[in-house]
Order: sequence, then C-alpha cells, then structure tokens
Amino acid sequence: MIPIQLVNVSKTYPGGIRAILDVHLEVRPGEVFVLLGPSGCGKTTLLRLIAGLESPTRGTILLDSKDASAVPPHRRNVGMVFQHPAVYPHLTVRQNLVFPRRPTYNHNNRSGQGGPQLHPKDRVVEVAALLGLERLLDRKPFELSGGERQRIALGRLLLRQPAVFLLDEPLAHVDPLGKSRVRTQVRDWLRQMGRTVLWVTHDHAEALAVADRMAVMDAGRILQVGPPREIYEVPNSVRVALLVGDPPMNLVPGSRVAPNGSDPAALFGVRPHDAVVVSEGFLRLRLKALEYRETGCLARLDDGELSLTARWPDGLAGEVGQEVGVVWDWRSVHRFDAATGRRLAPAG
Ligand code: ATP
Repeated sequence: MIPIQLVNVSKTYPGGIRAILDVHLEVRPGEVFVLLGPSGCGKTTLLRLIAGLESPTRGTILLDSKDASAVPPHRRNVGMVFQHPAVYPHLTVRQNLVFPRRPTYNHNNRSGQGGPQLHPKDRVVEVAALLGLERLLDRKPFELSGGERQRIALGRLLLRQPAVFLLDEPLAHVDPLGKSRVRTQVRDWLRQMGRTVLWVTHDHAEALAVADRMAVMDAGRILQVGPPREIYEVPNSVRVALLVGDPPMNLVPGSRVAPNGSDPAALFGVRPHDAVVVSEGFLRLRLKALEYRETGCLARLDDGELSLTARWPDGLAGEVGQEVGVVWDWRSVHRFDAATGRRLAPAG
C-alpha cells in the first residue's frame, strides 16, 4: 500500500491564486520524504490538502491507496505540525505534550518489538530531552520562546505516533546552533518508529541531511524527485540547481567559455567548490570580496557581465579589485539548454 499518493492534483484559491499545479507525487511506506522549495511555492497548501484541511480543485489524493476525498481530516490518521503551531496556554509543557490524550502503554513493546519499551512518563521525558525541553516541563507556554513552543507541537506528535507525519518547517524556530543535532535526532526517532514522513522545508541543507528521497518544488509544481545525492549531483534543470546548494551554482554562458571553443546554445553550471582561482586562467575577472567559510575561503568575482564564486586557494595573495583567473575541471561541470534551462548531456 502507498501511504500518500497525489494524482494530477491542482489547487486554485478564491481570487484565482494557483497554489498547486498538476502535482503527481508518491510517498513510500516508512520513508522520510522532504518537500523543498522557496517561500510561497505551495508547500503548506500541499500538506493541508493531504491532511484534508483544503480540497483540491482537480485531481485525486489517495491515502493507503484509497481515495481520501470523502474522508474528513480527523479520520485520516495523519498528524500535522504547523509552521506556527497552537499550544494550550493554561497547560504546562508536560500537559501540552500529552494533550489531547495520554499515550497508552503498549504491552507488545515488552517483547522488544514495535518501538521503544518505555513507560509513557519516561517517553514524555525522553521526547522532551530529544527536543531540549526537559528543564521546561513544568512551565507554561507564556514562559517559553517561539522555538520552544514549536518543539512542543512536534513532541506532541512524536508521542501520538500517527501513521503519517506531516511536518511543516518543523525546525524553523530551533536555535541554529543546535539545529543539525536536533534534525538528526528527530529524523532517527521518526525512522525508529517506522512511520511515513512528509517533511517540508525551504532549507536545502536540512532537506539533503534528513531525506531518504526529496522533491524540489517551485511555483506550485514539482520540478524533480529523487534521493538527495541525485538532486544535488544531477539537477534536471537550472532552477533545481539554483535551489540546492549554497552559495548557488555559478552559471556561465557557453558563448563566453566552452571546452571546445564556443557553445552558444549551452549554459554551463559550476558549483563554487569546483571552480578555483589561479593567477592565470581561461576566464579573467576582478576580485570583489573574499568570504571565509568552514571549508575554506571563497572569492566573489565579477567582470561587469558575469559574476562567479570560486575557491580561493591558501597562500594566494589577493587584493580587492585585482584581476585573477578561474579554472575548473570540465568533468565537474553541468550543461543546460540556454533557452529552456533543461539539463543536457555533459560537456564534451
Ligand atoms: P512559506 O514557505 O512562505 O510558508 P509555502 O511554500 O508554504 O510558503 P503556501 O502557504 O502553500 O506556500 O502558499 C502558496 C501560494 O498560495 C502563495 O502564493 C500564497 O500567497 C497563496 N495562498 C496560501 N493560502 C491562501 C489562501 N487561504 N487564500 C488565498 N491564497 C493563499
């Protein structure tokens, strides 16, 4: 059975706003599937359609391979964490976590099967620790930050364990310092439960880190679906290439530079870490700025027409305004159709 399936789904809001356009999507059992896209591209709308909080204008949504159009939200066995979740102001963090019902003890777990073998009280403490809420259990929501309140909603869902988790930017308010630890732990916890997860984010690093498979979305459409590595290494279009990676991929017209002279129909895509500054090179640009990154120094280069980001090698002396060269290995270069933006066969 397929937990989530969208067939030819479109959603137009009153006023003619076309939020979702002809989306086909399949989320497999037990996978963490990430939907990545910029603000306003339709991610939340897609989750709300699956949860039954909105109805599609066209197309079919199937849950567990059955048409869900007549199934009301509370009977869909999906749990959603909203981007701005509600917490109950009169309840403590502990009471909020177990609301609306206390988790029941699963006797099957005594045999060591089907998930963590913990008393509910211990599970509440464990979930609180996972999300960094353990010292706050007896506080009320007004005594918490926005990020802490959002983690309560995520914790509530982790305790409730619906068949399908719909997570709308679940870590948007988590402190950047702890974010990579929290995202890995939440992902591991979800995997351990074996639940199907649809996780929405606009953060490509989060998507690449947690996804089993992912979809890149833009302006209501799904542009590409695949494992994170494939999306990053073989983007099917310029748009996908630009949405995944920081700094974004450099784009160089084939009329400026090509492996065999000129290739005006092509646009070459070069990841910043695949391009390196040298004193002599096949492209000449001026140094605008140097930027220190964990992986080394990056140079922002420009010649009035073309802007590039490239690695600045250790030991190379440089001053802003100075002319430098750039080189790359053509085997690392992506080739796109300059007119349509679609991926072409690699440079020859
Ligand atoms: P963000 O990352 O900023 O939350 P998103 O990708 O989740 O954005 P949606 O909230 O799904 O995007 O919005 C998609 C489009 O639909 C946007 O243009 C938005 O303005 C519009 N939209 C969303 N909800 C409604 C609504 N209730 N009525 C009319 N238009 C809406």
